[in-house]
Amino acid sequence: MSFMKRSSKMLLLSELISGMALTFRYMFKPKVTVNYPFEKGPISPRFRGEHALRRYPNGEERCIACKLCEAVCPAQAITIEAEPRSDGSRRTTRYDIDMTKCIYCGFCEEACPVDAIVEGPNFEFATETREELLYNKDKLLANGDRWETELAGRLNADAPYR
Ligand code: SF4
Ligand code: SF4
Repeated sequence: MSFMKRSSKMLLLSELISGMALTFRYMFKPKVTVNYPFEKGPISPRFRGEHALRRYPNGEERCIACKLCEAVCPAQAITIEAEPRSDGSRRTTRYDIDMTKCIYCGFCEEACPVDAIVEGPNFEFATETREELLYNKDKLLANGDRWETELAGRLNADAPYR
């Protein structure tokens, strides 16, 4: 670039003005960024987030302790212990998921014959300690109670494709 051209550009602040014009133009365009965590983008009904154990509407646990999820889990993150109840039904006495091992493959959800263990829409479960990611049955059932409306909606939306 010639000396004269460079000098005139400097004197007339043409680069500054064109930069400001670009900024001004984008001020009136629709925003492409999301103001997280106050705004959140849409997520697929098949999104595989935090796990939850679901109940039937009468409050009974869905899980029948068949251990298919434990067997299919490629990360061996699930530990189940079970005992028959006095009424002869079979339920878990222990249902743990080591979330630090989980790879969110969704196999446990696919294997479950009664839609008990599911991966929900929650992706905001970061913790400060490793111990907080060792989920037990109480934690998983609490997740199920908290997210049941969303979980049922997601399963219904995906039902025609399963
Ligand atoms: S999502 Fe996959 S890795 Fe995680 S607990 Fe289920 S089967 Fe195991
Ligand atoms: S969560 Fe489902 S697959 Fe796993 S033990 Fe219970 S019923 Fe079986």
